[in-house]
Amino acid sequence: MEILSNRILEMAESETLAMTAKARELKAQGRDVISLSIGEPDFNTPDRVKVAAKKAIDDNFTHYPPVPGYPDLREAVCQKFKRDNGLDFKPEQIVVSTGAKQSIYQLAQVLINPGDEAIIPTPFWVSYKEIVRVAGGKCVFVKTSIDNDFKVTPEQLEAAITPKTKLIMFSSPSNPTGMLYTKEELRGIADVVARHPNVFVMADEIYEHINFVGKHESIAQFDDVKDRVITVNGVAKGFAMTGWRIGFIAAPLVIAKACNKLQGQITSATCSIAQKATVEAMLMDPTTSEDIINMRETFRKRRDMVFQMLSAIPGLKVRMPQGAFYFFPDVSAYYGKSFNGNEIKNSTDMAFYLLNEANVATVMGSAFGDDACIRLSYATSEDLLREALRRIAEALANLK
Ligand code: GLU
Repeated sequence: MEILSNRILEMAESETLAMTAKARELKAQGRDVISLSIGEPDFNTPDRVKVAAKKAIDDNFTHYPPVPGYPDLREAVCQKFKRDNGLDFKPEQIVVSTGAKQSIYQLAQVLINPGDEAIIPTPFWVSYKEIVRVAGGKCVFVKTSIDNDFKVTPEQLEAAITPKTKLIMFSSPSNPTGMLYTKEELRGIADVVARHPNVFVMADEIYEHINFVGKHESIAQFDDVKDRVITVNGVAKGFAMTGWRIGFIAAPLVIAKACNKLQGQITSATCSIAQKATVEAMLMDPTTSEDIINMRETFRKRRDMVFQMLSAIPGLKVRMPQGAFYFFPDVSAYYGKSFNGNEIKNSTDMAFYLLNEANVATVMGSAFGDDACIRLSYATSEDLLREALRRIAEALANLK
């Protein structure tokens, strides 16, 4: 008899984490691997956040916190939504979890019945698909095109909606493409959602502060759909706090309560010390905080450099990302070519070829639903990026 449940047997591994683990393994064996696989800022957590965490320990915030988060944190999150996004929430609508990934997982668990459909514009962040599937839902992928900056159109969404549609899931700024939806584009999506009263939207805004083109726009700003939008955010990317594991939702009360109930049965709450540190992060105004601005400007410089280097490689199709810290170039011009008799047939072959022959870890586009591309994270130093891009260009030139 099979030991493991079908649920876990049928679940795909997270390729972002798997490629990162492979890169670490090779490095531990002495290989000079440059990892562009994981989306993790290479900055340290701001000092004031660290000070708040140390104080939390000294003040004995070491007991079980309330399941959805400390009252002052939920209040601070509401103030953040007001200050940064012009959104009004009550603390009861906020549920703080162990990372945005858990927030999205819980949301799928409380919204999706077996057979319900979740519309996921492709390319999508790697975990959406498995999160929906493990809830018993059916993923309905809507392929976007590089020519439309990988953004779904209202017409495409309308065509994908059926009586079984429960949820639409997307990120803006986008992981893996780095694109972001303008206010007008979000209005277009909201118009479609407004026509379908049983459809909810999961808006993943974790890359909000890494935006190179202007003000962040939330779909929850539109009154006619705001009661069906669940906004997901956290501190990992914008505050260089990946390891603290803090994410949160701002949701209609009934959904927040359901997530709270579920969380009470699985993690009880997230870490008390990380929560207190996050109160401090929430006080940081992104328009004036030097930590946030410095990070964003550093990412911008790297983005410009990587864009130039990628654009100089023959055959690649590259778009200039507007946010987050990823490139998602189309590398399919190299499919069908070989190195030492091994043909590159798809994005997995390409990612492994680059890892094995160029010592550069990337993530195969197929993990994000687009096999023509690979994902490169530029959350690493300019020197390493320059060397990684040099190696990639050389490896691609060696394919015949
Ligand atoms: N979200 C980051 C990424 O896409 C971290 C790894 C993960 O959770 O997928 O690389």
